[in-house]
Amino acid sequence: MSVASPKNPKAVKNRMFEDATTIKEAYTKGAAMLEAAGVADAVRDSRTLLALAMDVSENRLILGQQIPVSPDRLRVYERMVQRRASGEPLQHITGNTEFMGLPFVVRPGVLIPRRETEIMVEKALEIIKSDSWPEGRVRILDLCCGSGVIGISIARLAQASDGSAADIEVTCADISTDCVYLAHTNAELNGVDRNMRFVRGDMAAPFAGRADDPADASVIFGMVCCNPPYIPTEVIGTLQREVRDHDPTLALDGGYDGLDFYRRIACEVPEVMTPGGTLILEIGSEQREAVTEILTESGNFDKAECIKDLAGLDRVIMAVRK
Ligand code: GLN
Repeated sequence: MSVASPKNPKAVKNRMFEDATTIKEAYTKGAAMLEAAGVADAVRDSRTLLALAMDVSENRLILGQQIPVSPDRLRVYERMVQRRASGEPLQHITGNTEFMGLPFVVRPGVLIPRRETEIMVEKALEIIKSDSWPEGRVRILDLCCGSGVIGISIARLAQASDGSAADIEVTCADISTDCVYLAHTNAELNGVDRNMRFVRGDMAAPFAGRADDPADASVIFGMVCCNPPYIPTEVIGTLQREVRDHDPTLALDGGYDGLDFYRRIACEVPEVMTPGGTLILEIGSEQREAVTEILTESGNFDKAECIKDLAGLDRVIMAVRK
């Protein structure tokens, strides 16, 4: 890296920001750079990164627009803007994100949580808080949990309207060790780790007693939530660079038609579910008919219904274990 010094004027010239750049100049210029590099939310990202580089809240930035940024902080900001401009996702640079209004740590190697996945959690909470929810302890499984956002948000937000917590035990499971560790970290961060379990394994195998090291051969769940990999293999290369180059393929690749995991879910998951239990799946916006058919034809599920996301796209399928 070139060091800016009077002996090295070229490096000074090549720097993005002059000394005595104000907060407003820094984020405006950062946003222009990001926009030129094809970043969708350039203004939002440049502000977030400047706030991080200066270690202040974004509100402070807005209030102190004419304050100069120190040269050290400018260097840090410049490096972050360059990383973002090269396609690295904002969340990998900041190391965190928000989901259902809760904080989560994000790490490379684990899928970055998506806003539209909140629909699944809202549906799950609606069911947990409804009159038809059974009395007594109910176990809930977040299968293919990734960073754990679904299971952890349910564990954290499942309070009855009178404020009492629902009697649930949430398990987060994933085939990736990185995911299981990160989910545990995130559960600690949200203060729910003591009421949760974290299991590494291939789909439902650890609970069905089919894994080499079964977590518990007799675990039966009253609700299973799953956001499996569902992108058709050939489509992965066409996704935006933040996803294609930085999200793990393991979390995206749903096989040649994107439906491999739904086929497995339809036959493997019922054996660890209570009859009458609810299955909640995230789907790709084109997969409603295919997934409904897979579930219905398995003979294990009925009452399949689809819920759209805020963009009006098919996003979630719910079905009841027969
Ligand atoms: N929703 C993600 C995307 O569109 C994919 C995540 C998944 O396959 N479950 O990139």
